[in-house]
Amino acid sequence: MSIMNQNKSNELYKISSKYFPGGVNSPVRAFKSVEGTPLFIKKGKGAFITDVDGNKFIDFCASWGPLILGHNHPKIRKAVVKASKNGLSFGAPTLQENELADLIIKNNKYLEKIRFVSSGTEAVMSAVRLARGYTKREKIIKFEGCYHGHVDHLLVKAGSGLVTFGSSSSAGIPDAFVQETLVLPLNNRKAVEEAFKQYKNEIACIIIEPIPANNGLLLQDKEYLQFLKETANANGSLIIFDEVISGFRVGFEGAAGYYEIQPDIVTYGKIMGGGMPVGCYGSSAKIMSSIAPDGDVYQAGTLSGNPVAMSAGKAALTVLAEEDFYQDQEKRTQVFVNKLKSHISKKGYNLYISTIGSIFWMVYGNNGKIQAPDQINDEAGKYFKAIFKKLLNRGVYLGPSGYEVGFISSAHSTKILNKAADQIIAALDEVDVEIGLK
Ligand SMILES: *Cc1c(COP(=O)(O)O)cnc(C)c1O
Repeated sequence: MSIMNQNKSNELYKISSKYFPGGVNSPVRAFKSVEGTPLFIKKGKGAFITDVDGNKFIDFCASWGPLILGHNHPKIRKAVVKASKNGLSFGAPTLQENELADLIIKNNKYLEKIRFVSSGTEAVMSAVRLARGYTKREKIIKFEGCYHGHVDHLLVKAGSGLVTFGSSSSAGIPDAFVQETLVLPLNNRKAVEEAFKQYKNEIACIIIEPIPANNGLLLQDKEYLQFLKETANANGSLIIFDEVISGFRVGFEGAAGYYEIQPDIVTYGKIMGGGMPVGCYGSSAKIMSSIAPDGDVYQAGTLSGNPVAMSAGKAALTVLAEEDFYQDQEKRTQVFVNKLKSHISKKGYNLYISTIGSIFWMVYGNNGKIQAPDQINDEAGKYFKAIFKKLLNRGVYLGPSGYEVGFISSAHSTKILNKAADQIIAALDEVDVEIGLK
């Protein structure tokens, strides 16, 4: 297998390192955890991306999730070009906002009103403020192993006890903020009960990724999610489903629809913008009436509801709302995953694959179902790094960190997935020879 040429990417990275911290505008792009230098991408089409050196890859990163229709989908591109002809932004209401909201709300029984923002982080930040404003309480519960964007209160990791305030996972977070966030272990009911007992009438909300997909894919049980909802509500608290990654991925109604659980507030991002920077949060009309200008919870955005971004979102979601879209996605994903699984079990490799909808995650260490980060093998990173590098040389691009899941788009045909699976199998066999996978 020839080692690919990365000269132009390396040159650009030298320059970008002068301009940006770590040479990038979002940390994981820097390839630190795989100890490489990032590829600069020139273009994408369907399931493929091509870098500035002309290397072409089957892409499973999908811009970290948004591109469920693949790269440069003609319907989205057309909508963007059409909308841009009338101007790029007005800071005044437009028809496009109504159209996208119509599509979302009419096809989602868990929402009555929404507010558009420009990123997932912004959606989550606003949703937490809404929960606090609505309940008039300050403390929040989050879970170790869930990511909610770079919101101050949510960049907090667990402390040592079952129910303790954590410590910040970033410099620059005031201790006073950390003191408002309880970080609990996933899949642990006792911790939740204990938290509500200790902080009775103080907890505004529980926030969870109902399908945790930012620290590997840590699938929770429906009964546990239901328990969280019931416990929160029984204590006068709200539950926020952060569906920035799962929304429009496991179904048009996201994880709420998949598990049939009514969250109090939902956040979306990623897919709903069709590749443009869009997020939203939503809830019942009653809870949303707390938001300004109807209510006293302030939240605003100069570029919120941007007409070009709204048009991209509408074009994308129109395709997702078509019959059988999600069944088809899941079917192709299952065939792909089963092919990998059967090779792994035939060879006796110590690897585990979890999957839901069109998401998959392969990790070293096989102790059965992984539902919390502390179940992930300590050596997983080492093996991911080896597999990742082999795959780049074999024309398969994964998100450059072992904690990132793989995304399958509608452009990943059975034929492309078959080819990708062959390359992954070959890469695993090579890694097995070099450092052992059993
Ligand atoms: C990606 C993500 C975010 C943050 O969204 P950005 O658009 O990157 O700000 C928040 N929550 C979840 C669950 C995510 O996956």
